[in-house]
Amino acid sequence: MSFFGFKGGVHPHDNKAQTKDELTVLLTAPKMVYIPLVQSNPAIPVKPLVKPGDSVLKGQKIGDADGMMTVPVHSSVSGTVKKIEDRPYPVMGAVVPTVCIENDGQDAWAELSKVEDWEKATKEELLAVIREKGIVGIGGATFPTHVKLNPPKDVTVDTLLLNGAECEPYLNADNRLMLDDPRSIIEGIKIIKKILGVNTAIVGIEENKPRAIAAMKAAAEGTGIEIQPLKTRYPQGGEKQLIKSILNREVPSGKLPSAVGAVVQNTGTAAAIYQAVVNGVPLIERVVTVAGKAVKHPKNVKVPVGTLFSEILDFCEVDRDRLYKLVLGGPMMGLAQFSEDTPVIKGTSGLLALTKEETNAYETRPCISCGKCIEACPMSLQPLRFVQLTLKGQYKELGPANLLDCIECGSCAYACPANRPLVESIKLGKTKLREIMAKK
Ligand code: SF4
Ligand code: SF4
Repeated sequence: MSFFGFKGGVHPHDNKAQTKDELTVLLTAPKMVYIPLVQSNPAIPVKPLVKPGDSVLKGQKIGDADGMMTVPVHSSVSGTVKKIEDRPYPVMGAVVPTVCIENDGQDAWAELSKVEDWEKATKEELLAVIREKGIVGIGGATFPTHVKLNPPKDVTVDTLLLNGAECEPYLNADNRLMLDDPRSIIEGIKIIKKILGVNTAIVGIEENKPRAIAAMKAAAEGTGIEIQPLKTRYPQGGEKQLIKSILNREVPSGKLPSAVGAVVQNTGTAAAIYQAVVNGVPLIERVVTVAGKAVKHPKNVKVPVGTLFSEILDFCEVDRDRLYKLVLGGPMMGLAQFSEDTPVIKGTSGLLALTKEETNAYETRPCISCGKCIEACPMSLQPLRFVQLTLKGQYKELGPANLLDCIECGSCAYACPANRPLVESIKLGKTKLREIMAKK
């Protein structure tokens, strides 16, 4: 398979050395877990299936919603539901209804229904299991996997791409999974291939993870699954960039990857699919990279969904006096967090405890029209124009300027010598544009 590369992008220091050689350690489930009744789409409320005082088992379904665009919620511990109350949620900067469960320490599992022979199961049966076990994209977006694996009937998908790029600096959660459990990923890929009815599956991994490339190649031997080393260049893991790099296909503006015959899944999601289908295990825990100079012992930690950030920061001995900015995810696309009382969700790939010197806390200067932001944009957009239109309140014009093609990767802001807050303006512009579109 050839490597084509994509236009634009940047080359931030990867800062992965802190945790790339650290074995994944298990965080003992805390005394309380806080599981938000939100999945993927906050507009679709998840109804609780439990009430305060109820006993629950590990892996038990505790919330669900009607329709296809969401997935059920499961308990990550056994214990007792103490209350259901509004609590901080890491993504929307909002508070959402949350099931608070006291862990009884028994680790008592619910009965796990599994598919006896997935090779004989139909596509519909496998998709139903993937939904029922709460599988979403764990690379960050948390989009329902059963929806992504069921592309529109009018497109022909011929290739499955697996995103093992993990191009965000600091993060090693996917890297460690590929090193520690490559077989689960490969088995998950086989299941996805059957669902999509494709023969070609290619795993893209950046060259800065040579051991993960070797481990995945060894696990894939004899399966026909290809492992494709990729140039280390941010945002190599973006769906459209991955498709361009590996297949040299360009997804048209406003279209999904399936429009050019591809479906992209995160490697961790493939492993979660294997656990769900073959072992009946719902998605109730994940690997989180904890790094940054305020962390005494940077680690990759496997944690139950619903664990508060504070528990993880204590476990990794974060120096609160040095902690200047807490970021969920990587430094390029991650979200600053204002409370440690916020729980890990399925899309939490990293927790960065950054010191002042590690953050971009530099003074913003006037734009010098150097065009570096345009050169860096991997989507061939004009970030500077977005900012100008947003500042002038000309939100309607953001549509024809293709603002909605922006993947919020932050490459433009990284490249800007004047330290302009480009992504913040872009996000504001998107909100305003969507409000206008909703009124039409
Ligand atoms: S405009 Fe959007 S896609 Fe382009 S570099 Fe900036 S954040 Fe990334
Ligand atoms: S990179 Fe920064 S200074 Fe240069 S044109 Fe873009 S916004 Fe202006």
